Amino acid sequence: MMSGRDALRAEIKVEFTTMVRGQPRLLCAWCSQPLIGGFDIHEAIIKRSKVVRGKQHLIFVLENCVPLHRQCHDEHGQSPTMKLRAKHYLTARLGAERICKWYTSLWQEHGLSVPQATSRQYGSEQEWREYLWSI
Ligand SMILES: [Zn+2]
Repeated sequence: MMSGRDALRAEIKVEFTTMVRGQPRLLCAWCSQPLIGGFDIHEAIIKRSKVVRGKQHLIFVLENCVPLHRQCHDEHGQSPTMKLRAKHYLTARLGAERICKWYTSLWQEHGLSVPQATSRQYGSEQEWREYLWSI
């Protein structure tokens, strides 16, 4: 059986691959260049260290994870710009509403303490986006 991490890796390959000039490509969330021969998984919105043991699988999901080159990860993983680029990457592929609903479910359904969680329902993708950019 695949571990959660391997399953997520497979899901990222399927869900985040896009067509670039007629070719299927999985792109790095930092530099936008193709990932060839493997990639790192970066937890973009909520880090593993912020989640209690036993609930970490809740953040190993598409809504929270972006693929990166090893070098981009090592050099820029802790940068605030990384978080911003990851949000752009994820919203382009999943939509802000889906990401915000995952985020809020951590608090509402799973009792995790997450900053700026809201039970508010926003009306448009733009409003979801503004909320996502605030977290
Ligand atoms: Zn890169």
